[in-house]
This record gives sequence, structure tokens and C-alpha cells, in this order.
Amino acid sequence: MEFDHVGIAVRSIVASLPKWELALGVRASAPEEVAAQHVRVAFLEVGPTHLELLEPTDPSSTISRFLETRGEGMHHIAFGVPSVSQQLAEIAQRGDRLIDRVGRPGARGRTVGFAHPSAFGGVLVEFVERR
Ligand code: ZN
Repeated sequence: MEFDHVGIAVRSIVASLPKWELALGVRASAPEEVAAQHVRVAFLEVGPTHLELLEPTDPSSTISRFLETRGEGMHHIAFGVPSVSQQLAEIAQRGDRLIDRVGRPGARGRTVGFAHPSAFGGVLVEFVERR
């Protein structure tokens, strides 16, 4: 397992990106829409890892609900694993809750899956399949 990225919920990527680019001294990837998750995302490369800015594209997006209740800020952390579905199965096997039972299409053409925050001390954890 390796660290992959930190996800940050924002109301607007266009409004937030310049602040992050200036603060980190890096340029972000072109924003990408992940239709299945009703979000638009942009990644900033920070050393060996990334920040992912997530903007909702639909009121039904989980990011919309997050912004309503908590405002902008840290949303999840993500780890790279060889197999997302296998990782999720192992978490289920030890009796912890999942959001996704199997991997699904995510940003950057990669398979992703989320565990429930109760499985990781209140932190929403995403798994990203390594290439
Ligand atoms: Zn993510």
C-alpha cells in the first residue's frame, strides 16, 4: 500500500485552483469530470503524492452534501493498492463497513472504491488501483 492523494472538497475548482497553485508552486492537471460520482476534479502533483480538488457537478453529489454540512475542506485520503476489490473484500471480512463493495471507475481512468469512515477512525478512505 502507498499513499496516493488527499481529496479536498471545494465549491469551485476555477475559484480555488489559483490559490492552491500559488501556495504549492505547481500547476494542476486539466479539470476532469467523473460523471459516475457527479464531480469535477483537478490534481496537483506535490512531491510523490497529489492533492485532488473535488467540485460537485450535481446537487445529488456526495460532495454537495459534504459542502452543505461541513463547508470546504479535507474530504478523504487515498491509498494506492494492487486490487481495489480485494482490498474492499478484506475490510468487509474483518467486519468493517464499506461504501463500495467492489471497485468502480474513478478519475484518471483508474478503478477506485471507498471504505466507510467508521472503518478508519472517522476518516473517509479511498483505495485507488495502481497501474
Ligand atoms: Zn480521491
